Amino acid sequence: MPELPEVETTVRGLEKVLLGRRIGRVELRRPDLRRVFPAGLGQRLTGAMVTALRRRGKYGLIDTDRGDTMVFHLGMSGKWRVDPKELFAHDHLLLETDEGLLLALNDPRRFGSVDLVRTEEVETVEPVGGLGPEPTDLDAASLHRQLRGRSASIKTLLLDQRIAAGLGNIYVCEALHRARINPRRAGGRLSGESVDRLVPAIREVIEEAIAAGGSTLRDYARPDGELGYFSKRFSVYDREGKSCRCGATVRRIVQGGRSTFYCPACQH
Ligand SMILES: [Zn+2]
Repeated sequence: MPELPEVETTVRGLEKVLLGRRIGRVELRRPDLRRVFPAGLGQRLTGAMVTALRRRGKYGLIDTDRGDTMVFHLGMSGKWRVDPKELFAHDHLLLETDEGLLLALNDPRRFGSVDLVRTEEVETVEPVGGLGPEPTDLDAASLHRQLRGRSASIKTLLLDQRIAAGLGNIYVCEALHRARINPRRAGGRLSGESVDRLVPAIREVIEEAIAAGGSTLRDYARPDGELGYFSKRFSVYDREGKSCRCGATVRRIVQGGRSTFYCPACQH
């Protein structure tokens, strides 16, 4: 499942082939993903020049010179394929640049989405409107204020997109481990010192994952190149029963229907 670093890597890969290019052709090969494709998507994008590529949370943003922004979400299984040699059944949306380079949005499970919004309204309308700050822009004082009085676990609260945009299960587990905070602790019971450790821990795990993905960007234009997926090494995530670096055994619990991995010795 693509998390924020994969989306960032995808956006940077798309930037190399789309920035400054005109979109020559748009082809919808089915009517919908999670939602119906926006009305007039092909018409509004065809002939438009791409002026910027950005990311907000787990959304990729493609700005055009017509004041429209295409907002994509990769859902559970989405990826962009660059210059595919052949098309697959799950290539649901095609963009072709004026130079004839083809991009295919492939999404077998179709939990992804594509929206078209006015660029000046990106931050105020769905789907990006209402998202909290980027996890790398969190501020300890304001996070501490937001957690005050909250009885939900810090693990659950950090997955709330209004608190941090795009922070997913993997990086919440990793950041809490790095900050030595027990994921079951109520958000409102975290000390100022804990929040002061948590904020840089979140920033570091995200930045390290983006850097790891960045090393695969060199391959972005290989035939059937798939943007954004890379293997990562985790300290606790998906490591139930294995050793933490302290020697204790990593545990898995379920919180809010999601697996949480943590070290009972390091995280208090
Ligand atoms: Zn440990």
